[in-house]
Amino acid sequence: MPEQVLFTPAALEEPWGQQILQRVQALNLPVEYLKQNRITGLRGETERETYAISKRTLAVVTAPASQFKLTPIPPSADWQFHLAQGCPAHCQYCYLAGSLQGPPVIRVYANLPQILDNLAQYEKPDQPTTYEVSCYTDPLGIEHLTGSLAECIRYFGTRDRGHLRWVSKFDNVDGLLNLPHHGHTRCRFSINAAPVSRFLEGGTASVAERLQAIRKLALPVERGGGGYPVGFVVAPIMPLENWREEYTQLLDDAAAALDFDCDLTFELISHRFTPGSKEVLQEWYPNSKLDLDEANRITKRNKFGGIKYVYDKDTMKELRSFFEAAIAQRFPQAEILYWT
Ligand code: SF4
Repeated sequence: MPEQVLFTPAALEEPWGQQILQRVQALNLPVEYLKQNRITGLRGETERETYAISKRTLAVVTAPASQFKLTPIPPSADWQFHLAQGCPAHCQYCYLAGSLQGPPVIRVYANLPQILDNLAQYEKPDQPTTYEVSCYTDPLGIEHLTGSLAECIRYFGTRDRGHLRWVSKFDNVDGLLNLPHHGHTRCRFSINAAPVSRFLEGGTASVAERLQAIRKLALPVERGGGGYPVGFVVAPIMPLENWREEYTQLLDDAAAALDFDCDLTFELISHRFTPGSKEVLQEWYPNSKLDLDEANRITKRNKFGGIKYVYDKDTMKELRSFFEAAIAQRFPQAEILYWT
């Protein structure tokens, strides 16, 4: 629950913004009506303080025009779009560090119907087109405040070729079970070995809770579940002490949660960081045990010349072959979409 909710004038004019207002009022959250459409006043004395104030603030705004020009997001999906930017959790390796500018306030978009109306023009004429909605937020982590993820699922249920993908570290899925998704939404959960999830993922549901959530979503409708296609995103994978045992335990637990036939995929993402994300993360989490030592990594350049630090080739190879074998053994029907 946020400690304060800010509404811009433009957001209040939107019917979807009014719907969010009703939700936050029903939860008795303190609401402030801003006089302008810019969010200001969240800076504290230090970066840590700014971080703490921002993470406890939900700002309801309208998505800027730039968000209506979609960008591709390989290897996860054809396109990305956003129902919010920012996330209430506190992962010490957070992917948003360095990619979002300014204080990490949670901005949710009040003009969701327009955002959804804009998507159809990006569908390929003759084959399925996938859309990722969790690049800049954890959509399930704010669903009780917005209802926006359910609205996206309903929308994609009406499309012939459009498919939605989202990923979460939360577990509040009961409201999604009875939606008319028509198999067009893949619900994925980010999972990790116990030392990572326990010590580096603050404010999220536990991995055991996430596994129960994916079970509910994947169970057939006749058994009281959501009947959704599902997926595991194992990320960020780290060669911790005893990593084989830790990740074996994780995959055993995952297999126990999905002990029935279902449409399941895996995405495998090794830990990486950039100079920019390291700087932000060290300000946000100064006491973190997360290994951000460049000496333990090799550098990789992207096509724009940016640097990222990744594990060396041998470590990557060892991790990858472990996961491929362990997944094939436990989930022979599941497809591994990519390793990175
Ligand atoms: S759940 Fe994802 S977006 Fe949220 S803090 Fe963790 S890594 Fe960042």
